[in-house]
Amino acid sequence: MQIFHCPTKLYMGPGALDALGGFPAKRVLVVTDSFFSKNGTALEVGRRVPGAEVRIFDHVVPDPPASLAAEGAALCAQFRPQLLIALGGGSPMDCAKAIRLAAGEPMTFVAVPTTSGSGSEMTSFSILTHDGVKHPLVDPSLRPDAAILDDSLLTGLPPSLIADTGMDLLAHCLEALAATGASGFTDALAFEGARTALALLPASCQGDRSVRLRLHEAASMAGMAFDNAGLGVCHALAHALGGAFHIPHGRLCAMLLPSVLSYNAPAAQEKYACLARLCGLPAATDRLAVRSLSAAIVRLRKQLHMPETLGQAGVTAAQWAEKQPQVLQAALADSCCQTNPVSVTEAGLRQLCKAVAP
Ligand SMILES: [Zn+2]
Repeated sequence: MQIFHCPTKLYMGPGALDALGGFPAKRVLVVTDSFFSKNGTALEVGRRVPGAEVRIFDHVVPDPPASLAAEGAALCAQFRPQLLIALGGGSPMDCAKAIRLAAGEPMTFVAVPTTSGSGSEMTSFSILTHDGVKHPLVDPSLRPDAAILDDSLLTGLPPSLIADTGMDLLAHCLEALAATGASGFTDALAFEGARTALALLPASCQGDRSVRLRLHEAASMAGMAFDNAGLGVCHALAHALGGAFHIPHGRLCAMLLPSVLSYNAPAAQEKYACLARLCGLPAATDRLAVRSLSAAIVRLRKQLHMPETLGQAGVTAAQWAEKQPQVLQAALADSCCQTNPVSVTEAGLRQLCKAVAP
């Protein structure tokens, strides 16, 4: 038996932020980073809740440490918010989820993503870092009650952030398609999410704002897909490498994806081929279609000016030699390996790392 969960109510499109007016609360806590508190967006978003007292928790940093959950929970115990709003990319959303879980208080939780990638607004996943290792926390109670996809928040995104988060979106789709928990429902979302990312990421990076809402929606579709289907070895390794070297998550996914496609092809060739055909790529046979898909990802990566190896991302051979054992150990222990369609071994991980090593 399979189950498809989607308890999060989605509000999307221009003006979607107005939906906050329909969440009655006397006290609102906005979890965000210093960028959105300094430029006033956090307060502006919190004030959309009529008559509410607004507090801002803006300590969230990239690769948020687990200690932030306790810090935010202490603020909740004192301020007792009825509504928790996560504003930002994956890090503020993951952090807000952990804060709500640690606080243990009933409060409505609304996620307002400002990047199109993590899909965290739709998932039961939260990734926090402790001692240089990223730990995926998975619990059904982490899913937000509502998510607001408003493209007015996407106008100032820098191209490198669009590229990093967009390749994360694409990785979520490719992993969800191949994962052991995939179903017809998750496939439909993952196919559409991947097709959208492959088609529209270059335009978005070049400044075309008209495609950003579609990419924003695609990120949420990908989130729904992997939340139900699971992820795989690309994310296990990206978590491990991100914990060790603090390279943006999507940049690592982009680096790993082509070799992950080859690694998983014995079990996922048909799905990858189907995606290649949906995208109009050369696909005379399934095997050729997988190669076309892999080549399309490499082309896209180049087009978005993304590094192809850890070396190009700034990691030296000495740093790699020092951290490799820790990376392999963390990747093997990562729960994402459990839903990879091909069993993940240390030898397999070494092979995948070889493709990106400095
Ligand atoms: Zn991801």
